[in-house]
Amino acid sequence: MDKEPGYDELLEEITCLNQQLAELAEKNRELIQLSNTDGLTGLYNHRFMMERCEHEFRRAKRYNRGFSCVLLDIDHFKAFNDTHGHQFGDHVLKKLGVLLRENSRSTDTCGRYGGEEFIILIPQPIEEAKEYILRLHGMIAAQEFCHGDIRARITVSIGLADFRGEMQSWHEIIARADQVLYLAKNCGRNMVRTWSGRGNKRAEIVNDHDINNLKKQFADIYQQVKESYVESANALLQAIDAKDHYTLRHSRNVAGYAIRLAEACGMKKQEIEIVKNAALLHDLGKIGIDECLLVKKETLSGCEYEILKRHPLIGVNILKNITLLAREIPLILHHHERFDGRGYPYGLQSHEIPLGAKILAIADAFDAMTTNRAFKAKMSPSAALRVIDSEKGQQFDPRLAEVFCGSMLSLHKDGTSLSPLMISTAERELRSDMRL
Ligand code: GH3
Ligand code: MG
Ligand code: MG
Repeated sequence: MDKEPGYDELLEEITCLNQQLAELAEKNRELIQLSNTDGLTGLYNHRFMMERCEHEFRRAKRYNRGFSCVLLDIDHFKAFNDTHGHQFGDHVLKKLGVLLRENSRSTDTCGRYGGEEFIILIPQPIEEAKEYILRLHGMIAAQEFCHGDIRARITVSIGLADFRGEMQSWHEIIARADQVLYLAKNCGRNMVRTWSGRGNKRAEIVNDHDINNLKKQFADIYQQVKESYVESANALLQAIDAKDHYTLRHSRNVAGYAIRLAEACGMKKQEIEIVKNAALLHDLGKIGIDECLLVKKETLSGCEYEILKRHPLIGVNILKNITLLAREIPLILHHHERFDGRGYPYGLQSHEIPLGAKILAIADAFDAMTTNRAFKAKMSPSAALRVIDSEKGQQFDPRLAEVFCGSMLSLHKDGTSLSPLMISTAERELRSDMRL
């Protein structure tokens, strides 16, 4: 028969059980911890963060305390993965998790909201949260992520909303943060936006520096895209040049003279750029004109001339859908109008003709007169200027003609350097043969 356990044995058994209980409690804690943690980043997971948000919301409501919610989303992370690989993407998510944890205060709670989105709950009013979030935003942009041979940076968009007394549910604060995050994405990314309480549209732009940066980036990209359009369209000119060797060089010369005249008129930099683009493309429509007409030695018949006169309209038709060139198009369309209304395609006169088109008309005529063509020998530059002077008020705008002649003469006198596009030999000849 078994002996009843003595006091010592019972004590030992109880100690052992206690130990097992403690281990169990520890294991439970670990399990809870695990079930609350995101596997990749080690931050709290979505489910836990939602519970925490509800908890903080109730506290804020009960004690009327400040409470802010931050949603942070990595910009263009899909493309980032495509460029650097998913593994490096994972590394970035982990490192970003560390960055968030290390830079948050003990009272803040950081979690992974999902995929490449993070959430931070801050038991403070929005003004204090905002300061911290702006710092964090800058810190993330400055962080270089390195793994193996790969080095890269990311930007993030952030939406920030705070608890308001009128809110009924904790979902509202998340919905607001999400709404302003969406706005930040729509406004170009890489910025912090806060819920201002005055409706989405007027949600406050927190970071002026970012907005200015964005504006600059937009201007740069706009400029690059526009230049590449002009270049591609200019490449089309080579197709015309293959028919008529005059076209490409002529377009560049016209751009040079047009810039000179536009500058002499005191036009703004952007306007001069438009005149330059239009000059480079003004004869694009000749691509649709029969080669024989372009190089014909004999005078064109009435019918043939009518065909040639279509080239401004053909050019505009080619370019009409390129919205970036919208301001150049009227100049191309009207570069053959005459001041006295006898030009084409619409017979516009004086002030009806866009200023840029009137500038092109003079630059175009001057280069045409001073270049050898199949059907006519070139004039001397001074003779061409005399023609322009004599056509004041008829073919050309009188004031522009005067400025052009004056500017060409001063070029001769002071020997000022020409714009880079100004490659015409007419310029050189003008220096040695200047009699108006
Ligand atoms: P947006 O600036 O609009 O936020 O663009 P986005 O590409 O970041 O957003 P989108 O929602 O289109 O794509 C999210 C990407 O995040 C897609 C997915 O490849 C990536 N992603 C989500 N979770 C993970 C992850 O655990 N690891 C890695 N490496 N990538 C992830
Ligand atoms: Mg996303
Ligand atoms: Mg994203």
